[in-house]
Amino acid sequence: MTLRAPDWPPCHRCRKPSKPSEQVRYEGNVYCCPECAPLEAQELAQGTLRAQVLERDHGVCVLCKVDCLKLRASLDELKAKALGDAPDKPSRARDAHEVRVLSLVQHGFPRSILEEKGSLWAADHIEPRVLGGPTNIRNARTVCLACHAGLPAELARDRPALRPPLRGRR
Ligand SMILES: [Zn+2]
Ligand SMILES: [Zn+2]
Repeated sequence: MTLRAPDWPPCHRCRKPSKPSEQVRYEGNVYCCPECAPLEAQELAQGTLRAQVLERDHGVCVLCKVDCLKLRASLDELKAKALGDAPDKPSRARDAHEVRVLSLVQHGFPRSILEEKGSLWAADHIEPRVLGGPTNIRNARTVCLACHAGLPAELARDRPALRPPLRGRR
């Protein structure tokens, strides 16, 4: 009896069903292709690493010192206020949000992530992976997405405007 497409087991990594003849088994799991098993191992290592980096660095970019968690929270707060205003009327909150997003886009943050919910930092390999840098906590650092987009560290350091306003103190 041959299994038909709907009965094929999904790949453990990408969930894609695959022909039994093309499947790869690794550590008891089924994968759709020989690439998915090592990719999943790598992704797991990176996911764990990200949690470790967050615990150590608390989301502060090592290059420009922007606090990516505070920045995310302040953007979400501005957006929540903006959404509270009627869409067909002028809204100060909406303007405030837009101005903040625009200034961050100018600093190199991707607009789509600023406007949605995504994380604003990357767990960056200090010694690049392509050069053999390992995926571990000692070779990882927190870099905001603006710095990560490729600005030289020297430039990134001189961007105090990136720091989100701290409530109640300067
Ligand atoms: Zn797969
Ligand atoms: Zn940065």
